[in-house]
Amino acid sequence: MNLKDYIRDIPDFPQPGILFRDITPLLRDAGAFNYTVDQIAQQCQGRDIDAIVAIESRGFLFGAPLACRMAKPFIPVRKQGKLPGETVSVEYSLEYGSNVMEMHLEDVSSGDRVLILDDVLATGGTLAAAAQLVEKAGGKVSSIGLVIELEALEGRKLLEGYDIFSLVQY
Ligand code: AMP
Repeated sequence: MNLKDYIRDIPDFPQPGILFRDITPLLRDAGAFNYTVDQIAQQCQGRDIDAIVAIESRGFLFGAPLACRMAKPFIPVRKQGKLPGETVSVEYSLEYGSNVMEMHLEDVSSGDRVLILDDVLATGGTLAAAAQLVEKAGGKVSSIGLVIELEALEGRKLLEGYDIFSLVQY
């Protein structure tokens, strides 16, 4: 199965100059969605993973079924103010301004090896912040997994030293 057949290109969304990779066609095809989760699970084989950390919100779409399939804990990374318990937080810069992401401190035990999952690797800023968050909580980033990697944006440069895999590259 070619996953690119289920990813739609939307030019100039959400702002002029951005070519948005839309995964909603993939989500509405049960076979393609299931295949995607299978492919991520396959990548996880042979990697040492205690828990799945997924980034709000599209990372959740793949992280939750993956965690169920692998029988591993699912840990959400959320935008500021959404998690009710004690959190660790990281501020990171966006193209315009900055953002804060949070994770429950109790979700990661010291030394836990986690997979961080998101839908798209663009500049890498979001994943670098998530990796910082995991490490701040005492965890180790075992690997970083993506459905889509936008190679021209060179997000891997920002994530040097981490083990990264992606299913589809543009
Ligand atoms: P970045 O921090 O630049 O790597 O951006 C990653 C986040 O932005 C991911 O969570 C994606 O959901 C989203 N994103 C960035 N660029 C695109 C794009 N061209 N198409 C779809 N989503 C994108």
